[in-house]
Amino acid sequence: MLEIGLTGGIGSGKSRVADLFAERGAALIDTDLIAHEITAPGGAAIPALVEAFGPTCLRADGAMDRDAMRALVFSDPTAKARLEAITHPLIREVTEQRAARIRAGGAHPYLIHVVPLLVESGRWRERVDRVLVVDCSEATQITRVMARNGFSREQVEAIMARQATRAQRLAVADDVIDNDGPVEALPPQVETLDRRYRAMQPASRTPPRAEHP
Ligand code: ADP
Repeated sequence: MLEIGLTGGIGSGKSRVADLFAERGAALIDTDLIAHEITAPGGAAIPALVEAFGPTCLRADGAMDRDAMRALVFSDPTAKARLEAITHPLIREVTEQRAARIRAGGAHPYLIHVVPLLVESGRWRERVDRVLVVDCSEATQITRVMARNGFSREQVEAIMARQATRAQRLAVADDVIDNDGPVEALPPQVETLDRRYRAMQPASRTPPRAEHP
């Protein structure tokens, strides 16, 4: 099954584009959603987080305290690596379980992984057959995220400064969706790519799966 990594900067329109692909029958796996699930109350990452960072890394309801962890990561350079050493393998595991189930189900023509930090992570580029970038100008990103999240311009710029640049994303893109214009410009672009993806075969580097030795 062809697997595509969909990425783009904050506010570029990844969620909107992903929804349009889902409407056309694509299977979706959202890594951000998985990251939230494993750090929710009772989530798979919780025991290891408490062991590594102590009970203060949790909120009263037992979920990871995102604000506290964000502050810790800012003040302690090793904390980010320790946090990711716990969460990334679990995200990978859940991703692979879901991908296997989708492949076995046979109900979808292709699979789209929504990965906000795909370009920042070398592993993802090798994992997928194609990289699809949702692109818009930085000014558009700022306007959208200020409106969506109620953030100040400075807050949005601080988030963007920690992400890959527009040029870095475009440099690794196999396909690009231009989302600087109105939302009405998206469906025709998605339709074109949907047709192309349905006709494509996954790269032969995909290792043979256990069930098909
Ligand atoms: P991402 O998932 O990349 O952060 P979203 O899909 O959530 O981005 O889009 C960011 C915000 O901008 C949302 O509020 C969304 O409804 C809005 N949006 C997305 N595309 C457009 C567009 N072409 N025109 C106007 N608003 C848009």
